[in-house]
Amino acid sequence: MNDWKNFNEKGNECFNNKKFLDAIQWYKKGLEITSEVSTLYYNIGNSYLNIVEIHKKDEIKAAIVYLSKACKMGHSSANYCLAKIYDPKINIPHTTKIKNTDLALMHYKESVYEEGTHSVYSACNNIAVIYGEKKQYIEALCWSYYAKKTNESPIFSQNHNIYLKKFKEEIKEEIIESLKLINNITDVEILINAMKETASEDELFEKDIDVHAIVAKPKEDSSARIAIGVFMVVISFIISGRVVSIVGVIGVILIVAGMYSFIKINEIEDSYYNDRQKFDKIMGAYKKEKKDKLKKLEEEKRIAIESQKSSVPWEVRYMLEPCKYCGHYKVRYAKWEDKSLSVAFWGIASGKIGKNYKCEYCGKMW
Ligand SMILES: [Zn+2]
Repeated sequence: MNDWKNFNEKGNECFNNKKFLDAIQWYKKGLEITSEVSTLYYNIGNSYLNIVEIHKKDEIKAAIVYLSKACKMGHSSANYCLAKIYDPKINIPHTTKIKNTDLALMHYKESVYEEGTHSVYSACNNIAVIYGEKKQYIEALCWSYYAKKTNESPIFSQNHNIYLKKFKEEIKEEIIESLKLINNITDVEILINAMKETASEDELFEKDIDVHAIVAKPKEDSSARIAIGVFMVVISFIISGRVVSIVGVIGVILIVAGMYSFIKINEIEDSYYNDRQKFDKIMGAYKKEKKDKLKKLEEEKRIAIESQKSSVPWEVRYMLEPCKYCGHYKVRYAKWEDKSLSVAFWGIASGKIGKNYKCEYCGKMW
């Protein structure tokens, strides 16, 4: 039963000599012996594809028929070939009418999951380009990242950098903000690792998410806080012989705050690995918090605008610029009573005497 292999080899010889029609005849002889070998279908389809390119004949239908058959049998390189036929960016004669990005994406992705004779990184890069055209930069970024990772060709890094830039421009403010809330990072490279999860329905990148990278900085920060706190307690003890001094108390507060955030961050990291539902819940809560705040601010702004229009003289008018300290639209002109207590106490030295505005939300004046 090894005979199909002989026919296949003869076919390959012809193929390599660019005698594609002869090659097809050999492969078809192989198929007469067995119809269970996806490679034969792939080779026939691929030969037809090459005829299309050389003779400009409309052999594309035959190519698609054979490649599709090979695809159904799980042939990853056949998927890659078919994807290129559908890919609008790949110029193959007589395919303009059948170009279809969804089909191209589907077959490219199929081609990535299994080893084949095709280059996986090219498939990834082509996927990235399609997503880039669709302006889905998160996906484009992930796939170009994978292409770059598996092949060091400068073209791939170049593409990756383009999508990185696009991504930075397009990335949703909301997501950045909610991540910032957790760990105060602005480093987009690290952020991307977090985004991969949001980006991929594809298991391909599941393995690559680097939660370690996300939590590293905040962990460092809280460790530093604890260290400074301990230092202050020790100093307080050395100088005054007791912990209960202002320095000591601040030190203790720092230690507690540091430990609290350290535990919280650990919890997030842990839930990422062990309890995905919990992780999503934590992320969801942060996003909701942010959303609620935005909603509240909108309402405050609306009230501020209304108050400006008000004709009632004793009603408070809120400024249309938010407070520069807390961001709330609760800023009004400072009244005398805002300053009186401070001025009564400090007299002319009061810092509040020259201040014109007061934020009702955080109480700051400027
Ligand atoms: Zn304020």
